[in-house]
Amino acid sequence: MSGFVFSEKPIAIASGEGVHLTDTNGTEYLDFGASYACTPVGHCHPEVVDAATSQLEELMYVQASYPHAARTALYERLSDAGPGDVDDVWLCNSGTEANEAALKFARHATGREKIVATTQGFHGRTMGALATTWKGKYKRGFEPLAGGVEFVEYGDTAAMLEAVDEETAAVILEPLQGEGGINPASTDYLRAVREATEEAGAAMVLDEIQTGLGRTGSMWAVERHGVVPDVLTTAKGLASGLPIGATLCRDWIAEDCGNHGSTFSGGPVVSAAAGATLDVIEREALADHAAEVGSYLREEVETRLGDDVREVRGEGLMVGIEVKRGSNRLLRDLALDHGILALPAGRTVLRLLPPLTVDRGHVDTVVDALAEVIA
Ligand SMILES: *Cc1c(COP(=O)(O)O)cnc(C)c1O
Repeated sequence: MSGFVFSEKPIAIASGEGVHLTDTNGTEYLDFGASYACTPVGHCHPEVVDAATSQLEELMYVQASYPHAARTALYERLSDAGPGDVDDVWLCNSGTEANEAALKFARHATGREKIVATTQGFHGRTMGALATTWKGKYKRGFEPLAGGVEFVEYGDTAAMLEAVDEETAAVILEPLQGEGGINPASTDYLRAVREATEEAGAAMVLDEIQTGLGRTGSMWAVERHGVVPDVLTTAKGLASGLPIGATLCRDWIAEDCGNHGSTFSGGPVVSAAAGATLDVIEREALADHAAEVGSYLREEVETRLGDDVREVRGEGLMVGIEVKRGSNRLLRDLALDHGILALPAGRTVLRLLPPLTVDRGHVDTVVDALAEVIA
């Protein structure tokens, strides 16, 4: 098994229910990462399945210039959910498209070109969003990408203040980096970015595609820092795994956002699925639950494995465990020997992103397994 590359997983998934997935041999797995934050309310939640199925039978598509009840309801829900006055909503089909729209809107509203992004940031793989993504491995062989992007060290306030000027259209960053290794930003840093962008007349774009929808213990991670951005993007779990993205903006961005569009924007089926997903997240207070179970998870890992790992990071149910060697082998052992699916974030970080519905019992199972594979 040497040279085993865990991206080629020998597990064919056939079905999912709640926090579990079942493969074609009937083996059940606990999903602590296989759904990449795309199933906040669990796999195949009955309310989401019902909403999507009845919509599917009634109308599969109508173009977005014709009002449709499911889309209109989703606009309202997202508008209400947006932090502060970030209440104008643009719908698309993925995270990268949500960021692509954010960058286009910011350029149009400001009439400026320059975009400031951060080291280790991940914002997607289309030519614009990819240009703001840090790691070379995602970009190699695809250049030239969209121009005008300047990178600054994530978390370095002085570097940010230096970079943001009268030519800056937008600063884009994650409030807690996912792909880059589960790296949290401090409140002081986010407030400094807010002040600098406001002063320069630039847009502060927060990518909450992985952190949003309750995962880090509040609907949006940024809420806990008392910062209101100009644009906030969400995607991943918004429609429980059906393709959707949303760009939420303040009026000054939305009023002058130019000619942008997408054929599938706010399609009836995904809109219905997203509405039902938001219903469940709110009704079941999954953000609070994520905060509670997430701190239990981090505490348990610290207590049981503190000496065997380098660091435990994260907020709510977005958790990174920095291990002392490559994480591939551990991920394989967790999956094949313990029936637990997790994912990496870089070479040495084990990332846990379970459905927000996991409980302490699931956490105990995972920590027991981690103790065996890591020790
Ligand atoms: C996944 C992700 C994206 C890209 O979303 P896609 O739907 O894969 O295009 C962008 N930003 C962050 C923070 C993500 O986690």
